[in-house]
Amino acid sequence: MTQPHDGVWRQIELGTTRSEFPPLGSFVGARSFESAHHVALAWVFDVTRTSILLIEHRSLQWSCPGGHVEPGESLVAAARRELEEETGITTAPIVTTPLTLARSLGCPRTRLAETVHWAAGFAFLVDDETPISTEPGQRACWFDVRELPSSRAPDIDIVVSQIGADEQ
Ligand SMILES: [Zn+2]
Repeated sequence: MTQPHDGVWRQIELGTTRSEFPPLGSFVGARSFESAHHVALAWVFDVTRTSILLIEHRSLQWSCPGGHVEPGESLVAAARRELEEETGITTAPIVTTPLTLARSLGCPRTRLAETVHWAAGFAFLVDDETPISTEPGQRACWFDVRELPSSRAPDIDIVVSQIGADEQ
């Protein structure tokens, strides 16, 4: 089994740059959701990194588990909480530095198109035999990275292609 290392899990920038991204510490204790939203994502791969665990969101289609950071919550804690809420899986990311940094516009919660979302995604490795329990009405499913569902969030392709390229 290949063990991930820092070189494999290099940071992927999606619609932002590391210098633009707010300092990670600034998320902790953030109480204002008026100007920008802070989001934590969980990129969950099986131990061989050939499958990815995705959630079927009503508005986002198939995408990785994730959601808004609560006031006073760290990004890592938020990613772990969202993963547990949406799949029942309780585990820590392999490293506490984000795999992905993203800036996007528009919020599915407020439906305000001008809301800025700063999202940090963390990499998790999970045994794909781990039992999954989902929220009512929301499906969770493992997908082979070569056979992803057609209705999916576009950032999945970028992350999967980068992870795959790194294995060479
Ligand atoms: Zn939002």
